[in-house]
Amino acid sequence: MYIRKQQIINNAAVIVAHPDDETLWTGGTILMNPAFKWQIITLCRGNDPDRAPKFNAALKVLHAEGEMGDLDDGPEQKPLKPQVIKKTIFSLLPPLEYDIIITHNPEGEYTRHRRHEEIGREVLSLWKKRKLFARELWLFAYEDGGGEYLPRPRPDADLETKLPKNIWQEKLRIITGIYDFHSQSFEARTTPATEAFYRFTDHEIIEKTN
Ligand SMILES: [Zn+2]
Repeated sequence: MYIRKQQIINNAAVIVAHPDDETLWTGGTILMNPAFKWQIITLCRGNDPDRAPKFNAALKVLHAEGEMGDLDDGPEQKPLKPQVIKKTIFSLLPPLEYDIIITHNPEGEYTRHRRHEEIGREVLSLWKKRKLFARELWLFAYEDGGGEYLPRPRPDADLETKLPKNIWQEKLRIITGIYDFHSQSFEARTTPATEAFYRFTDHEIIEKTN
């Protein structure tokens, strides 16, 4: 999947749990499509004095606009009410008709982070109910074999992009240089060189992930 620059400008939104998820799971796709108008929202850590400025610095490199929410993200990962997630999305995301919305998989990307799963579920549900408008909805398509290995593309993903080396390096630079993750951290070692998505179009939903 590579969408060339000469195509018309697309409105694209990325809805994630944490500052760094946008770069980890779809940063290459963002960097490879600089003609898109990217709007990135992260629902947690808006008041985190460490992570929030790093997110803003990452947005600059990604040539994106963005907003941050501050949903609970404590270590207990208490379940959030769908209503609360929905309210936060609507308070952060400009109410446009998007060409693409990209978000978490309802099954998450690794074993396991409840916020990723909750947000993927809610965005999918809002899109199905046409409360979020997008021609296409893309869900991250990664798995880690129940924690056996680092997250990798799911074999049945609809879209798979092997990132050019310079794009992957730029993405890794955001993770290690801007977000300050150590080169041996989970994040740096994970930083996928191939990005993978499930793609839903025209509201014909196929429950591939269930
Ligand atoms: Zn995350």
